[in-house]
Amino acid sequence: MREHISGYRIRAKQALGRRKVSKGDVILTSEPFVYMLTTPYKGLYCDNCLKRKKEAFQRCSGCSFEWYCNVDCQRNSWSLHKSECKKLRRLKPNYPVDTARLLAKIIIKLQNGGDKIEEKWTETKTRKFKDLMNHYTDIKKDDQRQEHLSVLKVVLYDYLGPENLPNEADLQGIFGRVVINSFSINDEEHCSIATGVYLAGSVFDHSCQPNAYITFTGTKLICRSLVDWPALDWNKVRISYVDVLLSTKDRISDLYHRYYFTCGCNYCSDLKRERISSSINCGNPSCEAPVHVSETDDPSLPVGPCEKCGFHDYAPDTRTLYKEIATFSREQLDLMKQKYYFDVSKLILEKQGSMLHKLNVLRVRALDAAYESAISLELWDKTVEFGSQNLDGIRYYYGENHPTFGLMLLKLGKVTYLIGKLEKSMRFFRDAEAILQISHGTSHPVYKDQLRPLMEQAQAEIAFKRARHKQ
Ligand SMILES: [Zn+2]
Ligand SMILES: [Zn+2]
Ligand SMILES: [Zn+2]
Ligand SMILES: [Zn+2]
Repeated sequence: MREHISGYRIRAKQALGRRKVSKGDVILTSEPFVYMLTTPYKGLYCDNCLKRKKEAFQRCSGCSFEWYCNVDCQRNSWSLHKSECKKLRRLKPNYPVDTARLLAKIIIKLQNGGDKIEEKWTETKTRKFKDLMNHYTDIKKDDQRQEHLSVLKVVLYDYLGPENLPNEADLQGIFGRVVINSFSINDEEHCSIATGVYLAGSVFDHSCQPNAYITFTGTKLICRSLVDWPALDWNKVRISYVDVLLSTKDRISDLYHRYYFTCGCNYCSDLKRERISSSINCGNPSCEAPVHVSETDDPSLPVGPCEKCGFHDYAPDTRTLYKEIATFSREQLDLMKQKYYFDVSKLILEKQGSMLHKLNVLRVRALDAAYESAISLELWDKTVEFGSQNLDGIRYYYGENHPTFGLMLLKLGKVTYLIGKLEKSMRFFRDAEAILQISHGTSHPVYKDQLRPLMEQAQAEIAFKRARHKQ
């Protein structure tokens, strides 16, 4: 029942709830309503606690589909899994696709009292599954999503049985809440291994320039502040729903198609940022300023002048050449959405040559692709080369304190340490530390079990080398 209180009391209550929050403080933690390890990670991570496989892993003998660290993990997941297990066994080895399994988990949970479960997000406010946004009418009108749902319905019919399928409107509502509110759950290496739906955790709105950030420890969602608040205002806490390494136009379109709103955040309305994201190097070798080139303007228009030094003597085909490079880069990068390839990334960088400014978003994306693919091939020198070249770009797009930037510095520290460049690795570790203690906190395994021991090891080795040098 709604609490009837006067306006004055509401304000007084809110004022009481406003606490001082410093950068790095935890604003909220949330336990999953449901979660699911995604299929590629089956057998590599525990289906219950989402920890990476250590030694012996045990398989559910009923369905042969779930894997657990031990009996405790199996027991903990049994309350929900017992209903799935029989159904999975019947379909073996043609297990349902991930989204269908996630929807089924929610349907089973709701049928077993899950509709009454609520999670607190402030002292006085709670959320139930039905409180999550479902964008019912938007999704109803979205052909692509309706097509997806009709395929899922067939799978669910088979998996859950017709008697367990919710009615049409309820299923639409559940589907909507899942596509709008689910989170990718990352492991300690920042690799997305699972999907989860969180009641309190999904209270945050989006900004491309977020002031808060979500990390995970196992299945628990942790939201930390990236800024200082004299008094925390829940209405102004923002996380980012999308990858910020996209041009403003692409980001706005992505957000609109996935979440049905037009982003009006500071970044999206910042024309200067948009101009920088599509810029080339100034023709004056002693000037480092970006010079904007639009891909849509008439190719015969002259480029420049540079806003900093006034240089304007560009070759007449500069605009045409830029457009060609930008189109090629975008096409190739979009083709690599699932996986980055080293050869393709290198080809894009070769094509770009020295034309694109280091803050041009296509340059930053290409270097990021080259860096990521070099890591996966264990080409450590190349990892350091491409990563170092991209630090300014990543810092610019993600922001100074963003954990993605911190994790990149940690990775570069690890790699330079691995190839024996100790002093350099310490510099990366120190920069990573400044960010990660805010974004992840000092008790997070990334900080406590990875960064700190590595720093101590590197420091000890440096000291040892220095001592030997003096002898
Ligand atoms: Zn486990
Ligand atoms: Zn089972
Ligand atoms: Zn935005
Ligand atoms: Zn210039």
